[in-house]
Amino acid sequence: MYDSIVIGSGAAGSVTARQLAEVGKRVLVLEKRPHIAGNCYDKPDKFGILIHVYGPHIFHTNEEEVFEFLSQFTDWRLFGHEVAANVHGELIPIPFNLNTLHKVYDEEKASRLEAVLIREYGEGSRVPIMKLRENSNPEIKAIAGYVYENVFLRYTMKQWGQKPEEISPEVTARVPVLISHDNRYFQDKYQGMPKEGYTAMFEKMLDHANITVRLSADCKDCMEFLPDRVLFEGKEFTGSVIYTGALDELFDWKYGRLPYRSLDFQFEHLDMDSFQGRSVVNYTVSEEFTRITEFKHLTGQTDTDGTTIVREYPFAYTGAKGEIPYYAILNEENQMLYQKYADLVKPLQNVYLLGRLAEYKYYNIDAIVKRALELAETIRRYRILSWALRRRTVFWINWRTWFVSFFPTMCRRERISLS
Ligand code: UDP
Repeated sequence: MYDSIVIGSGAAGSVTARQLAEVGKRVLVLEKRPHIAGNCYDKPDKFGILIHVYGPHIFHTNEEEVFEFLSQFTDWRLFGHEVAANVHGELIPIPFNLNTLHKVYDEEKASRLEAVLIREYGEGSRVPIMKLRENSNPEIKAIAGYVYENVFLRYTMKQWGQKPEEISPEVTARVPVLISHDNRYFQDKYQGMPKEGYTAMFEKMLDHANITVRLSADCKDCMEFLPDRVLFEGKEFTGSVIYTGALDELFDWKYGRLPYRSLDFQFEHLDMDSFQGRSVVNYTVSEEFTRITEFKHLTGQTDTDGTTIVREYPFAYTGAKGEIPYYAILNEENQMLYQKYADLVKPLQNVYLLGRLAEYKYYNIDAIVKRALELAETIRRYRILSWALRRRTVFWINWRTWFVSFFPTMCRRERISLS
């Protein structure tokens, strides 16, 4: 007998499961794949090199709460993640920053442009490329033109099949132009890798007496999402259900497929100490793949012969067997289609949608962990409230305590169950 069912054991599902288990809920985790950890899944390849099977995942956060939570399950290899772009054979630091400026222009011009950028935006600022392009100053326009052409245009065409101006501005804004000499890809306080890898971290997280994990378990084999209730093994299930998978799939694509971009990962083992001397190189003006990741520089692994790299080839997800939906394509039309699916869940008071797939959003790992911590807390508080209501004890609680503890919970957008 379970109090909660979590569908998916990636970051969203594992964190929620753990937090619910911690407050005494008996949690069943249903995982469709034969392994845990979702797209963060890593494992040694046949050469003993720890690889990220679903592409490179670099953890980064400014959220103390998130870092502390995860640190219960792992030590860290912290570093400042840096990326270079290969532009016609030359490597330049990405995001484009003041160091990049000095690499691509001669010293005199670079110093002048640096002063112009600082005057215009202020030192330390982060300017999305689409904003930089709007600037009417001819010198800034020229920089924007260079960055657009050499960093964004072809990479975005490969990644999304569309030009930067055709995709949601928040996507290119993830990699702003930095008015600073900071070569790091992210500016967050904490960045790096779980020391023993992501799978080990999620294994520890799910290792709890109140958690049962079923692998290779498609939720649709034991659950039914009816218009007004959820069935588990043929009986109504009134505990909380946290769904982290693709929402169109849950409802058998009844309104059509939600569009996603997918990736084909081509791994290669090379008999050399290092292929590119760094973890990630983006190919921003050439090649069919977007980037090459060399794992040993990410994970810090030194006890291996040779090196393993992965090239990423993006393509439009079609739903064919073996394809994985990685990135939601953010636009109004897709959002409307997503909303039609989300509306099917609305009457199901005990079902919560969480994560990149279920919410059709572009989340970083830390943002998902934070959302999962909040959701588990919302569920926990509401359960206490419903317990108190059933026993009519709630009115004995001091009104201030009631207001501070429960009012925010009740106001949350997440739907809450009174089972
Ligand atoms: N981007 C780009 N060139 C780069 C890096 C990023 O054009 O060298 C654009 C591209 O549209 C990409 C987006 O910025 O999809 C976000 O990049 P990010 O590195 O955050 O993508 P992720 O690592 O999540 O795949």
